Amino acid sequence: EFPEIDGDFYDLHDLLKPDEQAIIMQVREFMQKEVRPIVNSYWLKDEFPHQIIPQLAKLNICGLTYQGYGCPGRSSLLEGFLAMEMARVDCSVSTFFGVQSGLAMGSIYYCGSEEQKQKWLPPMQRMELIGAFGLTEPEVGSGAAGGLTCTCKRNGDKWIINGQKKWIGNATFADIIIIWARDLDDGNVKGFIVEKDSPGFKAEKIKGKMALRIVQNALITLTNCEVPEYNRLQEGHGFKDTAKVLRMTRAGVAWQAVGCGRGAYESALRYTNERKQFGRTISSFQMVQDLLVMMLSNLTAMQTMVCRLSQLQDSGRLTDEHASLAKVFCTLRTRDIVSHARELFGGNGILIENDIARFVADAEAIYSYEGTKEINTLIVGRAITGQSAFV
Ligand code: FAD
Repeated sequence: EFPEIDGDFYDLHDLLKPDEQAIIMQVREFMQKEVRPIVNSYWLKDEFPHQIIPQLAKLNICGLTYQGYGCPGRSSLLEGFLAMEMARVDCSVSTFFGVQSGLAMGSIYYCGSEEQKQKWLPPMQRMELIGAFGLTEPEVGSGAAGGLTCTCKRNGDKWIINGQKKWIGNATFADIIIIWARDLDDGNVKGFIVEKDSPGFKAEKIKGKMALRIVQNALITLTNCEVPEYNRLQEGHGFKDTAKVLRMTRAGVAWQAVGCGRGAYESALRYTNERKQFGRTISSFQMVQDLLVMMLSNLTAMQTMVCRLSQLQDSGRLTDEHASLAKVFCTLRTRDIVSHARELFGGNGILIENDIARFVADAEAIYSYEGTKEINTLIVGRAITGQSAFV
């Protein structure tokens, strides 16, 4: 007889309205029934389960916070809870979804013209069209703000793009890839909706990843890739516009980290309540309880933080530094939570079938993408001291 396993110790879901809670339950059911049973085998195979896309689309949660274009126009708080709910079962599926709904659709929503939004967002919302977001390059990661080497040059009613992009999630099968490149004429960063069949576009799968193995990341090579002017994001005038997208998605990654930690904590609590040593369940030992409580306290602090973050977002007050602080704190704490969870599973913690090994590995990728700990720390440091320490 043990209490129900639930990592929401302070009942933060009470912040949601009843109809929002009902959406959470639908997503929870989808993740438990459709994703959980297959996730470890797909993770091992390093493949994406394409069959889940139509079912995920039916949940009508893609592009959740955007107004119009077939999008539900819901709150950021609900979106955060949904990201947590997905990552609680699997971080790769939540990453796939975050790239589609956040990075790719967000680039069009924040930087596209009215015409571009009307053309691309509805089919992306229905997940009939899958998107990717290409900012990082083989030699340019953290320094993307000033250092992009991928170039674009206007030639009549076309643009010619040259360069490479690395780590681009979904890009092996995406229909459209947002590519950020520096204009050789005015030096500004511009965004392009690159259709997968564009001449000069090539995406190769990155093999051998030890984290988020279900996410299909690609190395993209653009060789005199031709993109029509009508596919240039018309309201993307420089990196500051790219940053608008990243502000929103970094908040989402903070929520995702909470989900990862929550999934690991709940698995560990369940396991320690069942596993017996010395004739007693291991959860009855003081040192095991100490670890569990430490995990729960971190988790509760993270959850409370991201709820407030989303409230700021919903009231239009979210800043880059708000999002960065939560991204750093939550991904850092989740690293501790998953490692404690693995410890509590003993040897069984390294077996894929127990989920924990996957959480441990995936937490490493979440920790580094969408701005590393150092870069997000420097964003907050700059805001609170008024001094930039980037270079
Ligand atoms: P680097 O920038 O080379 O950094 C290496 C180390 O140096 C880090 O610890 C970093 O913090 C530190 N460092 C760098 N500069 C400073 C400084 N000024 N001060 C202190 N320390 C510093 N990118 C996309 O565009 N689209 C995607 O879909 C995408 N998906 C990804 C999925 C995965 C699984 C991964 C791993 C990455 C993905 N990325 C994606 C790229 C990701 O955003 C970058 O990996 C990240 O920004 C870090 O860049 P980097 O890996 O080149 O590391």
